Amino acid sequence: MSSIEKEILNEKYKEMRRIIDDRYVEFYTNPSIARMEPFKIADGLYYVGDKKVCIHLIDTGDGLIVIDSGYFGAAYLLVDSIWRAGFDPKNVRWIIHTHGHYDHFGASEEFRRMYGTKLAISKVDAERLREKPHRAHIDSKKFPFAKVPEFDYEIEDGEIFELGNVKIRCVLTPGHTQGVLTLFFDVTENGKTYLAGLFGGAGINALTLPFINHNEDPEDCPQQMLDSIRKIWDEPVVVHLGNHPGNNKTLEKREQQIKEGGNPFIDPASWQTFLGNLKKRVEMVIKDNEALKAEIAEMAKQR
Ligand SMILES: [Zn+2]
Repeated sequence: MSSIEKEILNEKYKEMRRIIDDRYVEFYTNPSIARMEPFKIADGLYYVGDKKVCIHLIDTGDGLIVIDSGYFGAAYLLVDSIWRAGFDPKNVRWIIHTHGHYDHFGASEEFRRMYGTKLAISKVDAERLREKPHRAHIDSKKFPFAKVPEFDYEIEDGEIFELGNVKIRCVLTPGHTQGVLTLFFDVTENGKTYLAGLFGGAGINALTLPFINHNEDPEDCPQQMLDSIRKIWDEPVVVHLGNHPGNNKTLEKREQQIKEGGNPFIDPASWQTFLGNLKKRVEMVIKDNEALKAEIAEMAKQR
């Protein structure tokens, strides 16, 4: 791709970024508008996130693990949720990050400063963020002091992250970032054991050419996402956890749970329904990228 084409893509990235920032500005400024009551999903597994970003807490019997932390400036929401779920934040030994974007690690540094919690992420994303921190999208003007934290531990593809009686299988599923981790672990509910699964990065914005260009990611990111979907498609997930609430309809399921009781998070169909829909959306992005590439080549000629 020529430097003029890259310049046009960069302009498009800034435009997309501005639209996203404008849409979220109220939330960035007042994270509490997305506040949610924490709730139990299964034995030892709690939702402690908000209406924008999923955060999960696992009680391992030997300390707590939190998966993702939410936005910069929103650490107080996480602290509040952990207390209200019945736990002490100082017992959080690890925050495991699904991928290296600001909405998933934003609150981590402040949380670590308060409680001495250790931070983990995939080795791939740790390396790529060390190389170019802007890949985390922290250049948004809404977070002028934002930094990528130094991570305490880097997870490899296929690694089992073990603490207490919990074993989290971490599978590399690149696409959304190069180092997305999809997480699997067993949970129990009413004496039965189920596989919980969390697909670690599903946003398709990141697969568009302007984002790929900004992040200096490989151009085949969308194809990588399709390969990742195939890699974890057959996992017998019964408790499907979201990375953002839309993934597994967290908010709707919670509403249903409050109204009707029972546990809508025990849902063997959810995993493949989500992956099937995601696959269709990624295939659309591949077509859109092709069209945009042609359009940009045309624009470049006229400059
Ligand atoms: Zn992301």
